[in-house]
Amino acid sequence: MSAFEEIAAALGPAGIVSDPADQAPYLTEWRNGRIGGRPGLVVRPGTTGEVAAVVGICAANGVAVVPQGGNTGLVGGGMPDASGTQVLLNLSRLNRIRDLDTLDDSVVVEAGCVLKTVQDAAAAADRLFALSLGSEGSAQIGGLIATNAGGTMTVRYGNMREQVLGLEVVLPDGRVWNGLRRLRKDNTGYDLRQMFVGAEGTLGIVTAAALRLLPRQPRVETAFCAVRDPEAAVALLAGLRAAAGEAVTAFELISRTAMTFALDHVPGTADPLDAPAPWYVLAELAGPAARADLADALERVLADALDRGEVTDGAMATSEARRAAFWQVRERITEGRRIAGSGINHDISVPTSRIPAFVRRCDADLAAMVPGIRIANFGHLADGNLHYNLNPPAGADPAPFLARKDALTALVHDRVLDFGGSISAEHGIGTLKRAELARLKDPLSLELMRRVKAALDPAGIMNPGKVI
Ligand SMILES: Cc1cc2nc3c(=O)[nH]c(=O)nc-3n(C[C@H](O)[C@H](O)[C@H](O)COP(=O)(O)OP(=O)(O)OC[C@H]3O[C@@H](n4cnc5c(N)ncnc54)[C@H](O)[C@@H]3O)c2cc1C
Repeated sequence: MSAFEEIAAALGPAGIVSDPADQAPYLTEWRNGRIGGRPGLVVRPGTTGEVAAVVGICAANGVAVVPQGGNTGLVGGGMPDASGTQVLLNLSRLNRIRDLDTLDDSVVVEAGCVLKTVQDAAAAADRLFALSLGSEGSAQIGGLIATNAGGTMTVRYGNMREQVLGLEVVLPDGRVWNGLRRLRKDNTGYDLRQMFVGAEGTLGIVTAAALRLLPRQPRVETAFCAVRDPEAAVALLAGLRAAAGEAVTAFELISRTAMTFALDHVPGTADPLDAPAPWYVLAELAGPAARADLADALERVLADALDRGEVTDGAMATSEARRAAFWQVRERITEGRRIAGSGINHDISVPTSRIPAFVRRCDADLAAMVPGIRIANFGHLADGNLHYNLNPPAGADPAPFLARKDALTALVHDRVLDFGGSISAEHGIGTLKRAELARLKDPLSLELMRRVKAALDPAGIMNPGKVI
């Protein structure tokens, strides 16, 4: 029997996707319809045991495995190559919530659970699962762990890494590592679980996770305001933190150019303010029901900033519908850009205090290279994370612009390094940024990463060609 026949026998018909039409969704990334090569086999195991069986057969036969979750990663990490020899292993059938414990404040979920399902289960138990991002209706826990996802609440609760208490992982040799503990304290040597967080499926397949739950923060105050420039946005963040401390749960910077993509192309989005402005901030404070002072704090800080000319206009969300409308404008920018046509994307971070100088310098350098370039810049300012995305001049033929992609990206990444930043704040490396990682990451870090990979996956079958 060939390896593929062995896998088919182990999983049965429910675990194999053989019709090319049925395979198509697994080969299409969310934003750009990027087709990810040609899989030898597409499998959907239903249990950890089945995942281990597939990986064990692959290990015995030297066949590569590509783990895949909700397919929203956007950097090609969950896509097979073009060889027609790799097994694409989608986790979406592992979608059970195994246990939710309000005394331990933890939930144990399988890797294929969609983030929204976990958020809802936590809310039903009067708890918060503290991760929120635009793809939460599709992204899965395994993918979120493998990419160490961030999102809009990182400023207060940290990234996915901070939410993970324990993991269950199928290792590249097919054994199951049971690190599914719910402990807040465990100093018994190396923290193995963290190795798999952010590894983009190159060290093993996450099949389940124990995640921390937090008290719900039902009182939420949201403001959408126009700010003079990024310096004013950074000053506003500092003011809000001084007034409300850790109640600041979101602080998003949005350029007018970025917002216009949502307003022009996504039905149902509307400008929250009357007149256009070059920059906006979407800020949110959250706390327990008893914290009645949050709206006062927000209004006071905004009024002071208005007096100083840092804020030029603003609106508070007076209803849940209004709040949702504010967030629509922010969350639908990516979709608007996708509808508008091809662009060049960068998901970068620099220290928050250096964002204004970085933006000024990089904007000027890009404008010198491509007069009229549209920079759709937006992101999680409090985390120093910008989606620094480029579109061709309005009305211009995109082809010559896209042909300069490598040069434009190299310029942006070089500036990011000049300002002490990172070329991947959220989405990871996948295949898309592999060459840039090799160009820009320091050699010793790369060597240590290769040694970890070789120790866990000496045969190199686990998501080969990704990250390093
Ligand atoms: C509209 C939109 C908004 C987004 N906003 C954000 C944001 O604010 N913050 C952010 O961080 N990201 C964001 N993303 C990116 C994306 O949603 C995250 O990277 C997410 O974590 C990917 O999860 P997924 O289940 O779709 O993983 P996939 O795309 O399927 O896979 C991503 C990587 O993880 C690996 N992988 C998947 N499942 C497993 C597993 N069980 N075990 C081991 N490896 C696995 C894959 O091999 C691949 O390398 C956004 C994406 C979209 C489309």
